[in-house]
Amino acid sequence: MPHILIVEDEAAIADTLVYALQSEGFTTTWLSVGGEALAWLEQQPADLLILDVGLPDISGFELCKRLRRVSEVPVMFLTARNGEIDRVVGLEIGADDYVVKPFSPREVAARVKAILKRVAPRPLPEVTPASASGPFQLDEDKVQIHYRGQLLNLTRHEFRLLQQLLARPERVFSREQLLDALGVAAEAGYERNIDSHIKSLRAKLRLVAADAEPIQTHRGLGYSLSLV
Ligand code: CA
Repeated sequence: MPHILIVEDEAAIADTLVYALQSEGFTTTWLSVGGEALAWLEQQPADLLILDVGLPDISGFELCKRLRRVSEVPVMFLTARNGEIDRVVGLEIGADDYVVKPFSPREVAARVKAILKRVAPRPLPEVTPASASGPFQLDEDKVQIHYRGQLLNLTRHEFRLLQQLLARPERVFSREQLLDALGVAAEAGYERNIDSHIKSLRAKLRLVAADAEPIQTHRGLGYSLSLV
């Protein structure tokens, strides 16, 4: 059974979440302060983290940033503020989803299921040899991409993005199509998230070849990849 770590300082909210998640067959751990969460996750894995933005000791955003340096565990934020800033900031620092308080615990459980389905490893095709496209070498089995012979240190989303662009070099993909490739629902606001993943992907490619710029921006349309 998937294990969900809940970091929330309000016991009443945590209780309703624990109840809703356990009724759906999840196991749960509840922590009421952020400081314990990183240490907890170092000791044992969780399949998903539900993280309150307003914690007494550390902001949920800050905790997520620190977590992302060491872990790709899916994160869902609980936020009290229904603002665009929260949503965009939350997604840019690597969260997978967010809900605004007050929320329906059943809806949270449904979203948790959806995220876990999205991030589940896809069944491997019979044979997926490493394939070379120009300076890129994609190895789906190892979930690795080499660029000009150097292994790129990519996040899950960056890998999927580059994999999608590599599937059809020179083709212009809209942000919506790229979101599809990530398995993220195309909703308003999420599209800027693609821009931030592209930005960090470009930075990583630049570390290998400073002037090559293989990812092209097409204003108002989207992005394409050149095999340079
Ligand atoms: Ca709180």
